Amino acid sequence: MTTELTHFIGGKHVKGTSGRFADVFNPATGEVQAKVPLASKAEVRAAVENAMAAQPAWAAQNPQKRARVMMKFVQLLHRDMDKLAEALSREHGKTLPDARGDVQRGLEVAEFCIGAPHLLKGEYTDGAGPGIDMYSMRQALGVVAGITPFNFPAMIPMWKFCPALVCGNAFILKPSERDPSVPLMLAELMLEAGAPEGILNVVNGDKESVDAILDDTDIHAVGFVGSTPIAHYVYSRGTAAGKRVQCFGGAKNHMIVMPDADIDQAVDALIGAGYGAAGERCMAISVAVPVGEETADRLISKLAPRVESLKIGPYTAGEDVDFGPLVTREAYTRVKGLVDSGVKQGADLVVDGRNFRLQGYEDGNFIGGCLFDRVTKDMDIYKTEIFGPVLCTVRAKTYEEALGLAMDHEYGNGTAIFTRDGDTARDFANRINIGMVGINVPIPVPLAYHTFGGWKKSVFGDLNQHGPDAIRFYTRTKTVTARWPSGVKEGAEFSIPVMG
Ligand code: NAD
Repeated sequence: MTTELTHFIGGKHVKGTSGRFADVFNPATGEVQAKVPLASKAEVRAAVENAMAAQPAWAAQNPQKRARVMMKFVQLLHRDMDKLAEALSREHGKTLPDARGDVQRGLEVAEFCIGAPHLLKGEYTDGAGPGIDMYSMRQALGVVAGITPFNFPAMIPMWKFCPALVCGNAFILKPSERDPSVPLMLAELMLEAGAPEGILNVVNGDKESVDAILDDTDIHAVGFVGSTPIAHYVYSRGTAAGKRVQCFGGAKNHMIVMPDADIDQAVDALIGAGYGAAGERCMAISVAVPVGEETADRLISKLAPRVESLKIGPYTAGEDVDFGPLVTREAYTRVKGLVDSGVKQGADLVVDGRNFRLQGYEDGNFIGGCLFDRVTKDMDIYKTEIFGPVLCTVRAKTYEEALGLAMDHEYGNGTAIFTRDGDTARDFANRINIGMVGINVPIPVPLAYHTFGGWKKSVFGDLNQHGPDAIRFYTRTKTVTARWPSGVKEGAEFSIPVMG
C-alpha cells in the first residue's frame, strides 16, 4: 500500500491540495512506497504566512532559550536515531551504518548551534570618540529557506535549518522529492523539542515550489545544495528577486597518489571514498590520479580485485553491505549510459559492474562497482559528475601535471593528495584552487564548527556554509553609534564627522 505523505506547516501535517504528486520509490525493489505532494505557489505562500506570524516572538526570545531547544533536539535525534536511519535507508537506499552517519553529521551541526549565544555576540568599541560608543549586533533576517538534495536527506537540511533557527529566523525547508520522509520527521522532532509552531515548515515539491520560494519577497535568504545547473538557476532567480542566496553545486573530486604514498592506504581510501553510498556523495572521489606509470600499475592491480569483491545489497541485508542501489531508475540509466560512453570513447574498463544482478531484487537500481583506467580529459566520464559507483583513473607523468588536472577541472568542491612528503602536501594545499583539501584523508568534509564550501562551478554566492559562516549567512549586522550628550549643546556640524 502506498502512503500519502504531507507537508508540515504551522506545526501540523497538512495534506497537499495541488493535486500533483511524485512517486517515492524503494530503490532496492523499484516499488512505489509513497506519494509525495508537490506544492503549488499558494501552498508555499501558506507556509510563508505561518512562518511570518511565528518569527517575531521566536526572535525576541533570548538566544539561550533557542539554544535549549537545540539541546533538546539533539537528545531527540539520539532517541530516534534507528528510526530515522531506517526511514532514510528505505527511501535513499544507503546502508544503515551510512544512514546513521547522515543523521549524526546533522546532529553535530545542532550541537554546534547550542553555542549560539556566544556566536551571536556582536562587537563593541567603548569610547570610539568623546562620549561615543559603537556596537554591532547580529539580527535574524525573518523568514528564510533551504532547498536540499536527495543524497543526504538528514544532514543537509540540518546544515541549513539548525543555524537559521537558532539565530531567530523561521524556516521553510523544500527537501528533495525523492526522499522526503526524514525531513518531515525532523520537523516533528523540532516541534517536540520546543520550537513554536510555524518556526520550521516543510513544503514538499518540485520546480513550482522552488520558483515560488525564489520569487516570494517575504523570504529573505535561500540556502541551496544540489547539482550545478540548478544551483546556478536558483542563484540567478533568487538574487534577481533581491534575496541573499548561497548555492552549493556538483563536484568531480580528484585524488592524487604520489609515488611515495602508502599504496595500501591509498587503495583503502579510494574504495571507501569512491564506492561508499554508491558514489552518490558530493565529496566522493571520482578521479584517481596516480603519478608515474609504476604507481598507476601498482594502484590498478590492487584496486581491481577490491572493486570486484565489493558487497552490494539492500540495507536490509546486514551491516556488512558496502553500498546499496542508486536512488532511482533514472539515475541508474544515466550512470550506466555514462559507463557505456567511457567504453565507446576508448577508456579501459578494468572492472565492469554493469551486469550486476541481485536475485530477488531484479527491479532494484543496483549497479556494480566500475573501475576505469587510462581516462583522458576529453571523455564525458571525466568531464561529467557521474554520481555512481564509478572510479576513473587518469595517469599523470608528474606532480605538476596531476595538480594541473585538478586545477583545470570546472568543479572545485574537494580534492585529496596521498603522499609521505610534507613539502609536496604543503605545496598542494597552498596552490590548489579547490575548497576542501585532504592530505592523506580522502573525504575532507570538515566538522560542524568549521565553515566550508566548494570553489569554481561548485558554488554560487557569498560566504560558505556550516560553522561560523552559517551564522553570518542567516543574520544581518546592525551597527549602532551612540552618544549620550553631557548636556553641553553643540551647534550643527556640517563637515563629515572624524573621530580625531
Ligand atoms: P538536484 O539539483 O536535482 O536537486 C536539488 C534540489 O533542487 C531538490 O530539492 C530538487 O527538488 C530541486 N530541483 C531539481 N530540479 C529543479 C528545477 N529544474 N528547478 C528548481 N528546482 C529544482 O540535485 P540532487 O540530484 O538531488 O543531488 C545531487 C547533487 O547535489 C550532486 O550534483 C551533488 O554533487 C550535489 N551536492 C552538493 C553538495 C555540496 O555541498 N556542494 C552536497 C551534497 C550534494
